[in-house]
Amino acid sequence: MTDITISRIFATSVSRVLALGALVATTASPLYAAQPSGVPVLMYHLVDAHVPTDAVGRDLTVEPAAFEAQLRYLRDHKIRTMTASELAGAIARGEHPHDAVVLTFDDGYADAATTAFPLLRKYGARGTFYVSSGFVGTPRHLSWKQMRVMHKGGMEIACHGTDHLDLSTLDRAGQLREAGGCQARFARWLGAKASDTYAYPAGKYDATTFAIMREIGMKAAFTERPGTVRDLASPYDLPRRRVRHDDDLARFAAVASP
Ligand SMILES: [Zn+2]
Repeated sequence: MTDITISRIFATSVSRVLALGALVATTASPLYAAQPSGVPVLMYHLVDAHVPTDAVGRDLTVEPAAFEAQLRYLRDHKIRTMTASELAGAIARGEHPHDAVVLTFDDGYADAATTAFPLLRKYGARGTFYVSSGFVGTPRHLSWKQMRVMHKGGMEIACHGTDHLDLSTLDRAGQLREAGGCQARFARWLGAKASDTYAYPAGKYDATTFAIMREIGMKAAFTERPGTVRDLASPYDLPRRRVRHDDDLARFAAVASP
């Protein structure tokens, strides 16, 4: 190929790129529309009218009226809710859900059944509840019976460890016991295939964790790193966005948008 041919090809490419640039600038960017937009995975802890006085407890508590306003916002803006497992399944099939969020609730407090679940049902929404199996049936926490009702009602009940341990502090056998033990217990008690998503307590994991997640059959695992889920390139290191006590609806709208 001569230099002249190469420079002609180059010139043609440049003019195509420029033409494409003009097209993008004038037509609201078909290129950008083709990019998969991320799905926000929101993280709640307590949905409770009783707000603790300490700063951490307060921050982790969303009041029922605020939660209901958030569900109404999602409904009014045609933003659908899907479970974490459904999201992982959709992305694995090559789908990129638009206008969707995942609502997750950590730690399995009793208010999940008494407050969050009825409100989710009222708005036709679904949630993923990350519960530590060792805490089920203890004071202030969900009972197995409540979890079965929620599971039958379309909610995903998924693992948040056996004893809510930080996986990065455990050796391989310890991680397997902590993560796999929870999954086996849920499979037994909920009478269904155990859920295939996991949320790390405190969002922590280490180099061993991904292999453990694969070994126990998890499709996805969530941290507390902020961001949205665009793909499953690193399925055991997925981000979530925290919903805080003081978030007003404008702030929630930003958190729930891709
Ligand atoms: Zn937790």
